[in-house]
Amino acid sequence: MDPEVLQQALWMAGQGQGALHIQLTGGEPCLVPGLIEQAVKGARQIQRPLTMGIQVNGTCLTREIIDLFKKFRLQVGVSLDGAPKIQESLRGRAKETLHGLMLLEQAQVPFRITTVVSEVNVLYLEQLAMLLAGFRQARGIGLDLLVNKGSGANPESGPGAATPGDLHQGLQRLAQALIQINSRRKHPIRLREWDLVKRMLGRGRLNSTRLFCQAAQGASMAVHPDGRCFPCSQTMGDSRFGRDLANSHLPPRLPVASLMRSKDDCIGCRLEHCCPGECPSRLLYNPPATRRLACVLYQSLAELCET
Ligand code: SF4
Ligand code: SF4
Repeated sequence: MDPEVLQQALWMAGQGQGALHIQLTGGEPCLVPGLIEQAVKGARQIQRPLTMGIQVNGTCLTREIIDLFKKFRLQVGVSLDGAPKIQESLRGRAKETLHGLMLLEQAQVPFRITTVVSEVNVLYLEQLAMLLAGFRQARGIGLDLLVNKGSGANPESGPGAATPGDLHQGLQRLAQALIQINSRRKHPIRLREWDLVKRMLGRGRLNSTRLFCQAAQGASMAVHPDGRCFPCSQTMGDSRFGRDLANSHLPPRLPVASLMRSKDDCIGCRLEHCCPGECPSRLLYNPPATRRLACVLYQSLAELCET
């Protein structure tokens, strides 16, 4: 990313109000450590409560880069889709990624994992949990259901979506593994989506609009190195939603009205009155057959909360 684009992005972030989170992601942000430093220093000039995170694939991590993370108190996320064999088949360079995790462990830097759930890994998620059990610094797993965009849009160049039945089964296995693992840990490995569902069930009936999408409210922005900005990272590169950062004063909004699920679709669901609904970009990009996968995810985890 051109430093000028970075400065424009930070300027726009500074125009907003309230807490701000900046996520450095890619590609692979560790390829240009100097830009990490520049981003952090620029972000600290913004007069808003700030947290910053970095999403890495782990393959470029070195002690020096990890020292940067510590120095700047960056929240660290690592993209990891499974145990080594699965990681190798889906992303490649599994050995280097594991080495990166070990460096984080040695440096005592807590990290979370982001896992793209597809037909390839869905039934092996518990192996991922077992792998993470060996790392004291592992703090959580976030599950991203595959969005059919980019390489995910072409079934010949990448894996397809999980089936609803496999997703249900995979989540059950993962949850059982985490319960066992966490019973022996000081810091549990949290499952982000399970925590979300627990919060949904705990807060009871939602009485406001079902809109929760930051991109729909102009409250998020994803910046492309070429100087375009998009409503959020899921819409990155989609020319329908992109704007030239240099000529914008506000983040672009994702028009969601036509994308949101009808409330009638939720009648009878155990989460009917407390669920904020599905991510609009998954509804936008995914074929109809896979659009209910988020519901399967939420409902399966809600079932686990009740057992
Ligand atoms: S489109 Fe989906 S990923 Fe993007 S901000 Fe909205 S809910 Fe989040
Ligand atoms: S899980 Fe799906 S069906 Fe249930 S309330 Fe949420 S969006 Fe509606």
